[in-house]
Amino acid sequence: AKLYDAMHAFAKTEDKSEVKLNKDGFVVYWSRNKDLRLDDNTALSYASAIAQDLKLPLLYLHIFSIGDYKSHDRSPRRIDFQLRQLAYLRKRLHDLDIPLLTITQESRRKDVPRVLCEKLEEWGAVGLYANIEYEVDELRRDTEILERAREARETGEGWRGKVEFFKDFCIISPGELTTKQGKPYSVYSPYQRAWSEKINSHLVDYVVQHNGPVIANDPSTRKHPVLGPMFDHEIPTAIAGFELEGGEEEAKVMRHLWPVGDGITEGIMDRFMKTKLRPAKFFDPPLEGDAEEVADPKKDSKIGQYREGRNRVDWDGTSHISAYLAAGFISPRDCIRRAYEISGGRELPGGRDTGIGMWCQEVAWRDFYNHVLATWPRVSMAKPFNLKYDETIEWATDDDDKKFQAWVDGKTGFPIVDAAMRALKREGYMHNRCRMIVASFLTKDLLIDWRKGEKYFMQQLLDGDLASNNGGWQWCASTGTDPQPYFCRIIVQRIFNPASQSEKVDPSGEYIRHWLPELKSIKSKAIHEPSKTMSKKQLEDLGYCMPIVDHSKARTKAIEAYKTAAASA
Ligand code: FAD
Repeated sequence: AKLYDAMHAFAKTEDKSEVKLNKDGFVVYWSRNKDLRLDDNTALSYASAIAQDLKLPLLYLHIFSIGDYKSHDRSPRRIDFQLRQLAYLRKRLHDLDIPLLTITQESRRKDVPRVLCEKLEEWGAVGLYANIEYEVDELRRDTEILERAREARETGEGWRGKVEFFKDFCIISPGELTTKQGKPYSVYSPYQRAWSEKINSHLVDYVVQHNGPVIANDPSTRKHPVLGPMFDHEIPTAIAGFELEGGEEEAKVMRHLWPVGDGITEGIMDRFMKTKLRPAKFFDPPLEGDAEEVADPKKDSKIGQYREGRNRVDWDGTSHISAYLAAGFISPRDCIRRAYEISGGRELPGGRDTGIGMWCQEVAWRDFYNHVLATWPRVSMAKPFNLKYDETIEWATDDDDKKFQAWVDGKTGFPIVDAAMRALKREGYMHNRCRMIVASFLTKDLLIDWRKGEKYFMQQLLDGDLASNNGGWQWCASTGTDPQPYFCRIIVQRIFNPASQSEKVDPSGEYIRHWLPELKSIKSKAIHEPSKTMSKKQLEDLGYCMPIVDHSKARTKAIEAYKTAAASA
């Protein structure tokens, strides 16, 4: 709670200290892991404007904090994605005579404030501007930087520049929405209604307005005593300890599927909003495939058909923007700005009865889970949101590692689970419906602790984001933000039957056939539960296996485990 207050304090309180000008001084924008873009970036836009006012140059700084990567189980794929984006941004910034410097912080994560303040002092920087990160350790780090700068101003020792942090990662930031009683929302639906209302009553602030562009430095910056040499700084191609496990082959797949560069995010959004919904072409990057048929955004486009399309894993029905949003290559405001524009209305569509409205509601989940993380930081410290389930559920012991491994390898004998897990390993992405199915399977059918699944996802996902991933896992494990009185019903509802889910989300069976080529010869609906019609020997001959658990027995066991846990709390 203290951290949460501190965060609000530094987002609201203007640092009243004067900027201490010096002839060779400069302004520093510190980019984070979630705001790697030049357009519509609050702190960067502000830093750029300040630099102009002061007639000083701007530096774009990025710190690779090994400690943060480790403690958040950051996927090497996501780090590779960031490095590629930074190399792209470096080129764009050099065209504006702005250097981009990266620092790799090898020592402990809590050393970042000291190391950074020493550098700023050594360089003679006059100000530091960054966007707020809502994770606990990041809030601690930023609070310490503020305190160090304040203390230095009082004692006259150390770096005395101006420090400001900005709200940017969410459309509506944590703490901006409260219930009528002034309490934080703990359930999504009322939060989402308040979210839409707030946006619609402040359309100019949230949707129309755009942060100003980055303004070029004076070309003489290339001769600046400190900044000049930084123009030669190259972006590393890998961070030691976080290399891609699959080497060049994996790098090739990632670059093909998740490109970076000019017009990429715009292209992905246009494809989603302006081209026809169609069956998925698996292993296509979001931008490629056959020439897409132009469609009416409100009718037959992917977004227009989102209500149905989003639930079909054999259709290309969602935006595929998550990796770009999680790393901030696109601003979240830009997403809803586009939805607002194509809806042609006077407000952001809020209802579930149109594809565009439904999509905006999905984007709201991202803000909701960041709000949950900032308000109840325990969720990021391996604690359940619902404390009733803290240490009370009897999870499977480590003897069940084999089952966990079968889940990881996509060898559980449940085709939809296995297809999704293999897709994750190959592409660094999994469809939302599949994330729900595999998470339910791990936590309910195998009764394996959700934290193991959460960690594995973070290590594999390109869009891995602590708040959304944790929120998704806790939702599926029924330990998260649910209306409390009905917890038993919710647990029962969230024990997905893999076979019937499979029929719903992949009615054509094409998703399974693509990811499990050994089952390609099964043309009928039997593909959803082949063990029902085929013997163990027949399955083994195909190269597949029998289910590792009996779903209906596992279901009964899970309900008992949760009931016992709730009763013992
Ligand atoms: P679209 O359907 O086009 O949605 C647009 C955007 O809205 C997404 O890109 C995402 O930013 C946001 N969004 C949609 N649904 C959710 C949701 N339920 N929670 C939070 N944001 C949402 N999403 C992540 O971005 N990072 C994660 O690490 C992550 N882990 C998840 C783990 C589990 C167990 C579950 C059930 C869900 C998780 N999600 C996560 C949410 C969701 O699965 C992905 O955001 C979505 O699949 C991304 O595909 P898309 O961009 O095509 O989504």
